[in-house]
Amino acid sequence: MNAVFLELPRRSLSCRECTKALTGEQYCMSRYEDGQRCDYCSECWQKTQSNAEVEKKTTPYTWKVRIAKKIKEQNLHASKEAKALAYLKDIVGCHDKAAEQFCLALFLMRKKLIQLRKEIDIDSITYNQFEVLETGEMLIIPKIPLSKLDSHSVQTEIAMQLSKADS
Ligand SMILES: [Zn+2]
Repeated sequence: MNAVFLELPRRSLSCRECTKALTGEQYCMSRYEDGQRCDYCSECWQKTQSNAEVEKKTTPYTWKVRIAKKIKEQNLHASKEAKALAYLKDIVGCHDKAAEQFCLALFLMRKKLIQLRKEIDIDSITYNQFEVLETGEMLIIPKIPLSKLDSHSVQTEIAMQLSKADS
């Protein structure tokens, strides 16, 4: 797994092509190219697509981003979901915490803070690519079959970590 890809930066606030602010858009398209994240408004994306680059859209490095309406910040900071999200961001990429990452991702998906965008197979490992709806950040998390997940001990560990963040 490419470490750079794991640290995919936030969505930029404006289109890379026409520099129009992306906040008024319903969605934008993002592409990982030359080691950078590039975000395009839907119009510019269509222009790019009419170029000879069409084959790029079938790579795992292109995805559609829905631009969420801003969630009230104070609500978010106070909530258990926000803590869970902060903790998940901390541990993304830690190989020994894959089960925790996956459990947290399922929880946050239920709470509609993140959304599953696609599955990516890299070196015969399946990863789920989640988007943080508020910021457009991408989280790449190894997928764990539910049958292999010892959810009780994982949840205990998560609860412990989150209560630590309380104090
Ligand atoms: Zn544009």
